[in-house]
Amino acid sequence: MRERKRRVSLVMQNAWDSDVLTMPLALGYLKAYADADPAVQSEVEIRIHNFRRCASVSQMASELFRDPPDVVGFSVLGWNYNNFGRLSETFKQVNPSGWCVFGGNHVSHQAERAFRLYPSVDLVVNGEGEVTFCEILKAYLAGKKPEDCGDILGLSYRVDRNVVSTADRPRLRDLDLLPSPLLTGAIPMQDATGRFLYDVALMETNRGCPYSCSFCYWGGAIGQKIHSFSRDRLREELRYLGRHRVEHLALCDSNFGMLAADAEFVEDMISTREQLGYPRDFLTSWAKNKSKVFFSIVKRLQETGFQSSFTLSLQTLSPDALEHMQRKNMKINDFEDICRWLADEGLDTDVELIWGAPGETCESFLAGYDRIAKLVPRIATYPMLLLPNTEYDRSKQKHRMVTVREAATDFEVVLSHASISLDENRRMHAFLFWARLLAEHQVLRLVFFVAQRLTSITQSELLLSVDRWFSASRSPAAEGLRALLHDVVDSYDITRITNAVAYTYLHEGELGPVFESWWRECVVSRAASDCQAFLEDVMHYDWASRPVHDDVGRALQLRQEQIDGELFWVRTVSGLRYDIRAQATQLRRGQPPVLKRGPQELTLYYRIGFSSVVANHEFVTRFAGRTREELEEEAELARAGRFTKSVQMHSVGVRVAESTTRRLPVAP
Ligand code: SF4
Repeated sequence: MRERKRRVSLVMQNAWDSDVLTMPLALGYLKAYADADPAVQSEVEIRIHNFRRCASVSQMASELFRDPPDVVGFSVLGWNYNNFGRLSETFKQVNPSGWCVFGGNHVSHQAERAFRLYPSVDLVVNGEGEVTFCEILKAYLAGKKPEDCGDILGLSYRVDRNVVSTADRPRLRDLDLLPSPLLTGAIPMQDATGRFLYDVALMETNRGCPYSCSFCYWGGAIGQKIHSFSRDRLREELRYLGRHRVEHLALCDSNFGMLAADAEFVEDMISTREQLGYPRDFLTSWAKNKSKVFFSIVKRLQETGFQSSFTLSLQTLSPDALEHMQRKNMKINDFEDICRWLADEGLDTDVELIWGAPGETCESFLAGYDRIAKLVPRIATYPMLLLPNTEYDRSKQKHRMVTVREAATDFEVVLSHASISLDENRRMHAFLFWARLLAEHQVLRLVFFVAQRLTSITQSELLLSVDRWFSASRSPAAEGLRALLHDVVDSYDITRITNAVAYTYLHEGELGPVFESWWRECVVSRAASDCQAFLEDVMHYDWASRPVHDDVGRALQLRQEQIDGELFWVRTVSGLRYDIRAQATQLRRGQPPVLKRGPQELTLYYRIGFSSVVANHEFVTRFAGRTREELEEEAELARAGRFTKSVQMHSVGVRVAESTTRRLPVAP
């Protein structure tokens, strides 16, 4: 027995900049598996380091190397590749004989490049990492050198200057052989005050994907055959989360709703909530082709009042682009039927599209965008990235792709290819900026849908008109937003949209008049005269009912009120001439609005805590302003779903305090 246990550090860095951390599920699996091996557990102490996206390399180095580990394992993805490469160099300075291991989709089967860029990296794990990493630890404990690891499957190392890769490790067929990172306590769940530590709890019910879309490395990195965890194991994990009062659950599965086991999982989730009150809602990537299982799951969620939103991943409607993607979508008529059916069931739906795939053009993309927007205004648009281990990476030359890697991340951004020029791509990145800011992140929620019902303006025309309006505006707040637009277009980095999202909430008072003047000029003036006043009210209500950023709530000294154990900002919206909510419901049912004058003033309640999740588009609806009646309706629904609404979001640490109710300015 050694004098002290060997120290192993497992490191990840979050993808998004948020006050709340992402759960380190992948590292939890590595730790839980290694801890379960008596030979390793007796000699090794494994710590997980979970850094925020904003953490600098020197901040991470200070934490990691104050007491240098013997082995450091980095979970590498595009956004942290260079940071971790730099940390590997520092690691070798503080512990020259320590081992530095890279693993994760971004480096799997990419060892030659990783070793060339970062010679301090000793080993690269290819494929599933749990068993391989445990064997690496055993080799280290046995006093071997990295180049002596030829007997470990799924690994790359160097001998002299040559890269050696061992045979691929067969994928784990029985996933229950992996101890649960939740049930073993490998992942910490709460801080010292008992608060849940993460934005959502993550779970996997299976691994693998039967498809092989050209842009995606899920199939390539993990393999096509689907292997599942047992129902008993998943049920135990659900109960564990329920006991920890975890509100939001997100599944990491690639195609939820495809397997019969998925329906069983949903039954277990519902019964966990019935017994323990949690989880309250869940997110997942739904199967791209909808089966009977999908419909039965949606029905059950609806019957039991379980909250979920439905992301339909179409990626493109262009036949040429679909062919290059090696992907078949459901027929557009079926898609339209599903959207209508989900809307009739009262469920939120959003659609994912990729801009800039080979075969796509500006025209085909915008035509597809508008076709979808007629049914689902909330569309998430992602620019094409060339990821390692994908078909597009292998066929880069065939598509005449020109790419660039930004200094900060290792993502390969597509600048142009056979069907898209560089200028077109820049123009479309400006479009993506507005599409993601306003429609996907729902900085505006009603106006797109109402404009499409009451005017002939398409959603893409609306977004392009916002771009022109802000280009011409001399308002300082508009200039601030334009600077953030240029930042996205110049860097081709759409993830920077989160800066713009936060900006719109922090500058709501200055930006409101700019959006209202755009709306009057570009939409209201083009509508029939009898609905112009109504359209003005729609914009006024839409802006006023957006979530309140907590810094703004405090700065404006908005009154706070506690309802059913939750804290709300309260403010009054003045100057409304119509009951916008009732009219919007009419429109959603396909009926023309009854333009009857409604209340002049509306008191809205906004859940407190939005500032900690402002970058996450999934939370907008939850934090948007509601009337007292709407809150009561929600509470009633929650009771019908047999769970209480008495617990606050984990991020809310604010006490009820006295302050004044502020009035919004009266609409012109
Ligand atoms: S995009 Fe979805 S369906 Fe296609 S390979 Fe990736 S995970 Fe599978």
